[in-house]
Amino acid sequence: MQGDRKKLFGTNGIRGIPNDDLTPEFCQAIGKAIGHYFKGTVSIGSDNRLSGPMIINSVVSGILSTGASVIMLGILPTPAVQYYCKIHNIPGIVITASHNPPEFNGIKCIDSDGTELAKEKENRIEDIYYEKSSSPAGWKNIGMEHHDNSAFELYINGIMKSINVDAIRNMNLRVAFDAGNGASFRTTPELLSRLRASVVTLNANPDGLFTSRPSEPKPENIKYLIDTVKSGGFNLGVAHDGDADRAVFIDETGNFIDGDRTLALFVKHNIRKGEKVVTPVSSSDSVDKICEAAGARIIRTRVGAPIVSRTMIEEKARLGGEENGGIIYGDHQYCRDGAMSLGIILHIMAETGKKLSELIADLPQYSITRKTLRTDEKFESVLEKILKHYPDWDIDRTDGIKIRKGERWILARPSGTEPIIRIFVQGKNENDSHELMKEVETVLQ
Ligand code: MG
Repeated sequence: MQGDRKKLFGTNGIRGIPNDDLTPEFCQAIGKAIGHYFKGTVSIGSDNRLSGPMIINSVVSGILSTGASVIMLGILPTPAVQYYCKIHNIPGIVITASHNPPEFNGIKCIDSDGTELAKEKENRIEDIYYEKSSSPAGWKNIGMEHHDNSAFELYINGIMKSINVDAIRNMNLRVAFDAGNGASFRTTPELLSRLRASVVTLNANPDGLFTSRPSEPKPENIKYLIDTVKSGGFNLGVAHDGDADRAVFIDETGNFIDGDRTLALFVKHNIRKGEKVVTPVSSSDSVDKICEAAGARIIRTRVGAPIVSRTMIEEKARLGGEENGGIIYGDHQYCRDGAMSLGIILHIMAETGKKLSELIADLPQYSITRKTLRTDEKFESVLEKILKHYPDWDIDRTDGIKIRKGERWILARPSGTEPIIRIFVQGKNENDSHELMKEVETVLQ
């Protein structure tokens, strides 16, 4: 639309640095636009970042001024707020920057079905913001502030309803859990306790500085968890990102399990004949193989959890997810959910009686390697280099460019906001994918 208008909403809401991009004035103005757009009542939850209270108070002040009311839910994982929205059929906001470093924060809008707000609706809020078309309510009609602490219980019960609780309890599990100082410090330990697991928690003190580890649950960031599981006696380890919509796992021997494998495991044990599975072009061929064997169809989308959720709803697909530890289980809710992912993995272990390492070994074994290249080069010239070096590979333009020959593929996507290009490659095994990535890096230098 208007070319000089800065886009506010990215792939996961509005992100920025408090008092720099996210000033109180901006947050209040966006609150006015949100209040004007949603009307009625809006629920609000947040992760435990230091800037949370400042941003919440500014956004809420803006919302109330339009005559809309708010329900304050407190500090919760993003999927717990989404579940509350879904069950109560009201829209919501989550103040979070997910796995970003502690200096960031963000504003994410949730629709009344619990899904991330669709692009067109976010654009509408941007219009209201830029056109300043929200109107203040008269003093008698200013919105009300309510508090509700039931979202926690609602969320835990929602997960317990979706899994075989008795079978999981009978396993007498020992689980190591790393909250990374994030919003899951209360929910995931509580879920595990109710599943009668014996739990060792790491970094389960909420700390908006993320002093214990960076919030992204990558292998190099969760070394203590891996060491703890390796020390022996655990059935598995689990870690979330800051807002706990993602979960990654460590098997009983201390091996980090790539999110791509967790996704494949989830699909394999839940898929029914004739169903559809939705996943972005960035996840491996494992899911294709599993769908093929089960007589199910796979739908590939652009990268981004909101796109996957949206497509799942449109296609009436129950199962979906991303390769970064983001499982989406439609029977529960149409968004990524870290604690639900944990519940699903435990459910599969209980139903099969197998160890996590055994379940993983049974999957089609592809390997994905990821890299972020910082470059000022235009994506078109990167693309040209790739196509020139791999002239006879098949081309898929769903997102950026994905080229394939046999079981190997390369995916390159430009970032919308930073001078970086994200590269994913698939190989037949770990050595193969590392080798292919090295080759791609050489080609692009
Ligand atoms: Mg997240």
